[in-house]
Amino acid sequence: MGQRTRGARNFALRFYKSKAWKHKSKTYRQAHPLCERCLAKGLYTPAELVHHKKHITEENQYDQNILFSDENLESLCRKCHGEEHSGNEKAKFDMEGRLIL
Ligand SMILES: [Zn+2]
Ligand SMILES: [Zn+2]
Repeated sequence: MGQRTRGARNFALRFYKSKAWKHKSKTYRQAHPLCERCLAKGLYTPAELVHHKKHITEENQYDQNILFSDENLESLCRKCHGEEHSGNEKAKFDMEGRLIL
């Protein structure tokens, strides 16, 4: 893991704990209470977290459009979120900003 990755991860950890994000993710989930990917397959699964479609990186970490725009957010269940991040990315976070390994 390089320095750059770690920087973005530390930022993400702080970000997911921030009041602004907790508020945003809560209101987004109230508007989208079901996992959007399951829903597309006709399944009704309660969303457990709000995912950033464009993942947070060191380059975009201060971009409010990435962090807080509904366009970049997606309500997901834990399974779909795991699948989303099962690629080459090592860091996964739950709603509380805890690292999922
Ligand atoms: Zn799902
Ligand atoms: Zn995610």
